[in-house]
Amino acid sequence: MNSLMKAVALSLLVGSAAVVHAAPDFNPAKPSMTELKAGVYQYSQFFYNSLVVVSDDGVIVTDPSGAMRAAEMRKQIRKITDKPVTKVIYSHDHFDHTRGGQIFKKEGAEFITQKGCLELVSSDLKRKVVQPDITYDDFMSVKVGDKQVDLHYYGSNDGKCMSVIHMPKDKVLFAVDWHLPRYVNESYRLPEHDYVGILNTFKRVQTDLEFDTVISGHAPVSSPELFEEDYRFVQALFDAVWEGIQAGKTTEELKASIKLPQFNHWRGYEQNLPAHVERMSYSIWHGN
Ligand SMILES: [Zn+2]
Repeated sequence: MNSLMKAVALSLLVGSAAVVHAAPDFNPAKPSMTELKAGVYQYSQFFYNSLVVVSDDGVIVTDPSGAMRAAEMRKQIRKITDKPVTKVIYSHDHFDHTRGGQIFKKEGAEFITQKGCLELVSSDLKRKVVQPDITYDDFMSVKVGDKQVDLHYYGSNDGKCMSVIHMPKDKVLFAVDWHLPRYVNESYRLPEHDYVGILNTFKRVQTDLEFDTVISGHAPVSSPELFEEDYRFVQALFDAVWEGIQAGKTTEELKASIKLPQFNHWRGYEQNLPAHVERMSYSIWHGN
């Protein structure tokens, strides 16, 4: 990627993606590898996060998110270990997350994703997505050395083939796109946002999975508290829209009247909440 393309890519990301909790001097192009638990890292660059799991037998990574970012991630992994990357997990199908994994394919990594992503990632006309080698239906445990990364399919949420990524032994949860802390994001990101599915995912994760560490797919920082707050936002949105629909209000009336003041400090609250009301309304009425 030349410098102009870099600048364009960066401005698109900075202008649109999850600029959440970023310090004023935060530089999204600067790669960062943060160790969260022994051998478990959050790799961040361009407002995309990957889970990097290092064991004695090899390395597991998630979501290359572009060739330039994947190459930098590979470089940073080499600073920690000389073991090969043996598994690449796609959290979901979206091209901005799945493209660019060729560098890992070349060293022999296996690519893993939920079954429903297979057809979707095969439709990349520019063939920038390494096609998955292994798929699963509802659950898969990916093991390398002493490390274990579980993939749970809890149904449609943001897209149709999202893996909820969980490390049961390390108590780490990686939640991509369906969890964005303190950010009411832009309306053009919502068409794939199945809000009822997302609420179901939150409920199942809180009931079934144990974790003390959370990584969001985009925000520099998350936590179990921020995750819980996000869950409360989706639940409050559901409750308000549901009650409005029961009272016979139209979507336009709901968009104009629903306020969730307990979340009014969230980024994008003022300008984007009506679009989220509309999306939730359609999701309740239609089912996705
Ligand atoms: Zn995303």
